[in-house]
Amino acid sequence: MASNKKVASLIAKKHKISKKIEDLQQMCEHQDKVIKSIRENEDSSTTVIRRVCDNCEKIVGMPTQQEIFNFLDGTR
Ligand SMILES: [Zn+2]
Repeated sequence: MASNKKVASLIAKKHKISKKIEDLQQMCEHQDKVIKSIRENEDSSTTVIRRVCDNCEKIVGMPTQQEIFNFLDGTR
């Protein structure tokens, strides 16, 4: 049916967009890092706290215990 094709085309688009994001993340120098609560992965509703680049959103590391405390303090 037509809806199958729609999904296929959306998935193709999604791949293209993911590729673009990857390219941008590879070009980025990750100079501004922030602590953020993000989804563990695309299909997950679980959020995790990570150190990510403020420009390209790429995960660049794990926050320290102190950074997690500070982050949680700021969200309260
Ligand atoms: Zn970056």
